[in-house]
Amino acid sequence: MNGQMMQQPLLISTLLTHAERHHGEQEIVSRRVEGDIHRTTYRELAARARRVANALAQRGVKFGDRVATLAWNGYRHMELYYGVSGAGAVLHTLNPRLHPDQVVWIADHAEDEILFFDLSFLPIVEAIASRVKTIKAFVVMTDRAHMPASSKVPNLLCYEELLTDVSDRFEWPRFDENSASSLCYTSGTTGDPKGVLYSHRSTVLHTYAAALPDALNCSARDSILPVVPMFHVNAWGLPYVGCAVGAKLVYPGPFLDGKSLYELFESEGVTMSAGVPTVWQGLLAHVESNDLSFSTMRRTVIGGSACPPAMMRAFQERHDVQVLHAWGMTEVSPLGTVCTLKPAQLALGSEEHLATQSKQGRAVFGVDLKIVDGDGNELPWDGKTSGELMVRGPWIVASYFKGAGGDPLVDGWFPTGDVAVIDADGFMQITDRAKDVIKSGGEWIGSIDLENIAMAHPAVSMAACIAAFHPKWDERPLLVVVKKSDFEVTREELLAFYDGKIAKWWTPDDVVFSDTIPLGATGKMLKHRLREQFKDHRLPTA
Ligand code: AMP
Repeated sequence: MNGQMMQQPLLISTLLTHAERHHGEQEIVSRRVEGDIHRTTYRELAARARRVANALAQRGVKFGDRVATLAWNGYRHMELYYGVSGAGAVLHTLNPRLHPDQVVWIADHAEDEILFFDLSFLPIVEAIASRVKTIKAFVVMTDRAHMPASSKVPNLLCYEELLTDVSDRFEWPRFDENSASSLCYTSGTTGDPKGVLYSHRSTVLHTYAAALPDALNCSARDSILPVVPMFHVNAWGLPYVGCAVGAKLVYPGPFLDGKSLYELFESEGVTMSAGVPTVWQGLLAHVESNDLSFSTMRRTVIGGSACPPAMMRAFQERHDVQVLHAWGMTEVSPLGTVCTLKPAQLALGSEEHLATQSKQGRAVFGVDLKIVDGDGNELPWDGKTSGELMVRGPWIVASYFKGAGGDPLVDGWFPTGDVAVIDADGFMQITDRAKDVIKSGGEWIGSIDLENIAMAHPAVSMAACIAAFHPKWDERPLLVVVKKSDFEVTREELLAFYDGKIAKWWTPDDVVFSDTIPLGATGKMLKHRLREQFKDHRLPTA
């Protein structure tokens, strides 16, 4: 016997029509590429997304066609999020931090039809325009007054003109909720990038889950500033959550330095933000060196890389901003776990709170987790035994676009490539990427713990721990440190800093100081580059 409830497909357009009807006056504020502050509302967003849909139809974009963007976080990008997917085409967010050769490869693989891009990315578009095989039109996301001239890209189209030329009346089509809605390629540090093709159903379900109190906890009373880019896993879903709950959205555009972000936090009453640890370092440095405080900001989601406990302490103890440590991946839409405390942990003291919060947290409803050994056997949740983290759920990849890499699943679970422990209360902690683990004499040393300790030293601005060759132990930890400019610290002082904080044999064998640590296109440390750079490093213990 079936239930007797309405059959309504879960479509991205329904998020927008909800926001228009129930939160029409709610604001969306963007710092534009042009430099000024722009204000709009959900009502206006909906009307302009319908214009986008009409403009796409006029240019022959059909159901399932890929429409690419190279754009910062801003209202025009959000119009494309809804206009493209709502009309049944697939929004393909390209990452402008990739090398132009990679952008060409990805755009060709995706068979993108049209590329919408922000003014600041004209140099990338000029580098790729004559090389991409399928892109037929290049649209600059600006008005006529700001249109650039380019000899390298013929027939540049103007976004505002495209929208003016068409009606704002458009009936969002109803179709199968399993239809593709958006496409994002993995960072591909090894091998070719692979496309993760989200569906309307997966996106809407992820939106419900992301807004939950023990997930990102978003409501109509929030003013949300996503620092995490809309070109990387849909800004962790926040442009969709905004519509679902009717929150004010504040977009920073290309201005991601501490000063610009702080100004927006204060002027727009931002209550919540989200981003990778490296962004928050800049913000904290600005706030602390200018003796500032946050007047409305209450919580920030930090993920993408492990959040060092020292950063959590700074936010929570000095600025009264709660840190929500979260774990996710492109393949997981991205939200997998968020760290919020249960009553049992809340009953403990602040040091225990911090210890729990440094874990990546508990599964959001909809995501199931397990850890397995090398033979695929499930391992106990004892907070000590580590194994590869496997996940499954309705917003987790089942196969990559065009079948790249074959079937990724193992017994219906997606192997994340992360190594983790899970404690009896279900708190998961990532100890490493499988390929970054340091294998010392057959035992595993997790690099994240070693980096977190180094980051708590006042002189350390960035720290990466990598495996260095050792004739007896195969691999031993080597700590690569970027010093803060106004501090001095020696190798010996840093090594002594580990005393009592970690098992003695985990202490790095050596420290090297470096001017930078290479970061990838999504802000993660490129440890394979560091391993290459230091492959001939001779450890003093060798
Ligand atoms: P991406 O698909 O580029 O978003 O990268 C996903 C990977 O980032 C994960 O598999 C983890 O290795 C890493 N990651 C994401 N969030 C965290 C976190 N909170 N702590 C440690 N690593 C993380």
